[in-house]
Amino acid sequence: MSTRNVIIIGSGPAGLTAALYSARANLNPLVIEGLESGGQLMLTTLVENFPGHRDGIMGPDLMGEMRAQAEKFGAAIVQSHVTSVDLCSSPFVVKTSDGEYTTRSLIIATGASAKLLGIPSERQLMGHGVSTCATCDGYFFRGLEIAVVGGGDSAMEEANFLTKFASKVTLIHRRDTFRASKIMQDKVRANPKIEVRTNAVVHEIKDTGKGEVTGIVLQDTNTGALSEIPVAGVFVAIGHTPNTSLFKGQLELDADGYIVTHEGAKTNIAGVFACGDVQDHIYRQAITAAGSGCMAALDAEHYLDGIPETLHS
Ligand code: NAP
Repeated sequence: MSTRNVIIIGSGPAGLTAALYSARANLNPLVIEGLESGGQLMLTTLVENFPGHRDGIMGPDLMGEMRAQAEKFGAAIVQSHVTSVDLCSSPFVVKTSDGEYTTRSLIIATGASAKLLGIPSERQLMGHGVSTCATCDGYFFRGLEIAVVGGGDSAMEEANFLTKFASKVTLIHRRDTFRASKIMQDKVRANPKIEVRTNAVVHEIKDTGKGEVTGIVLQDTNTGALSEIPVAGVFVAIGHTPNTSLFKGQLELDADGYIVTHEGAKTNIAGVFACGDVQDHIYRQAITAAGSGCMAALDAEHYLDGIPETLHS
């Protein structure tokens, strides 16, 4: 099999934007879409903050449009997932569930996965009252009571942010001390719309029968006692895991496992670029991921311009 110009790993907003730009640069990109085709937006409902969609667009529809747009300009998308990469020397080797590729440049857009509580009702009601993104979904809970789960900075930030919309936010944390910074904790405690429930875990989210969130059953971690509170939404804010296990030992990662980028989308290996949530634990928005996908494609194009064997179609 001939060596490709660009392989993109991942098919969320970052990967598909990188595909669009590199396709339009006649680089014949190949997207290996991964196990979670379309990325985190496939788990959301209405996306109201992606510019250009004044009435909002459903997450899966937005990803379908991005995919079709990339394909229209010649990006090839394969439904396999990467099992290993060898970045020791160029061309890079990418092994997938369906075969092996070599490529002159690699764009990594494998994203990050929101950690989940792991209870069945959480997965069933995801996008129907359960969310992992307050910025995306907070607006839907205007005037309603909701819960936020977690004890880190994300949970504090989301709880505070959500009081802009919700009539009441119950913050649920499994211990009685918080991992969050003192200043973030203080903001939460000073917010009259937030009630803090410590030593409590979510036992069940109701009501899978109705297909919407009507309440949560909490379990006291000291006594085991169950209690129920009525809420219309549950925001799970217990952290994210960057999908970087493939690259450990080969690429520079930060202390939390995110790929370190510099000067745009460059990694510590020439010809390897990263974009989207796999290198961004701060903004984590579809639009910022798409923007960084554009940067990665332009960086890859520039890199390939300096390599004599690059083939333009
Ligand atoms: P985090 O610091 O890892 O906190 C995760 C929280 O979720 C912890 O309180 C943890 O409880 C809890 N948790 C984990 N798994 C759980 C489970 N299965 N059930 C219930 N609770 C669970 O994650 P994060 O809050 O997303 O923050 C990640 C990084 O981004 C941190 O470095 C943070 O400082 C940074 N950040 C900064 C800002 C800011 O400065 N504005 C905002 C957001 C995030 P335990 O404490 O019991 O382990």
